Amino acid sequence: MAHRIAAALLGLMACCLAASAQAPMGLPPLPKVSGVRLYVIDCGTIISHQPERFGLTREDVPDPDFSDPCFLVMHPRGMLLFDTGLTDAQVGRPITENKMGYEGQLKTTTLKGELANIGVTAPMITYLALSHSHWDHVGNANDYAGSTWLARKPEYDVMFGPNANETVRRNYAALAQARIRTIEGDYDVFGDGSVFLLSSPGHRQGHQSLYVKLARTGGVVISGDLYHYSAERTLGRVPPREQATGTPASRKKVEDFLRRTSSQLWIGHALDWYQGAVKSPSWYD
Ligand SMILES: [Zn+2]
Repeated sequence: MAHRIAAALLGLMACCLAASAQAPMGLPPLPKVSGVRLYVIDCGTIISHQPERFGLTREDVPDPDFSDPCFLVMHPRGMLLFDTGLTDAQVGRPITENKMGYEGQLKTTTLKGELANIGVTAPMITYLALSHSHWDHVGNANDYAGSTWLARKPEYDVMFGPNANETVRRNYAALAQARIRTIEGDYDVFGDGSVFLLSSPGHRQGHQSLYVKLARTGGVVISGDLYHYSAERTLGRVPPREQATGTPASRKKVEDFLRRTSSQLWIGHALDWYQGAVKSPSWYD
């Protein structure tokens, strides 16, 4: 279930955001929400012509471009930003100039601006979590380095460990200074069972997915890059380069979890999911 009237309520929301005083010392007030809300935020589009990289053909995937959303969870005890998408530096530039990977990227709005539309600024975000350390998920991570970063060691190490790439280390210098809480296994973010970071290694060693239990929508698992295309799931295909990684076991774990919790799976990069999703400033609850 989603609200489609959010834009009209922005003024009201700004009032409520300012009125609450439950934040830890030194942080702006938390939103006064009685339950959990989940926002799907446009963080760019990746132009891709290569479904073969995922064990699929053009017939399996008629439109092989990728959506690249970010997600914001509003919880009575704080806010969690999951992934930060393509860098805002790509906004307004031609696809052919934005070539960090695949055939190019298209970015029409900034994450900062999308958050402002729902009355949220970076200092209000309690926790930052990244599905993994690849460029299309960490693009704006520096802007949220004031949050507590719920990090897994393999992903921290690939960005900032002794063998980290110098360019990555330099590009994300602010994130390197973030307050870090190192997490392992499945992590209960707010301590009430409503939001879990699920360990799902394979695509990257420290890859994770996000579970959110919503009152009206029910349980949702946001895949991260556990899958890229819906056809991988329906046709049972694993990207060739991930067949010998943890991906098959992580997929089995998540599929079992979905069954056990009667949850739905959202594949963030899958356009067929993204096109039907309710986008920010509306939300799921
Ligand atoms: Zn990705």
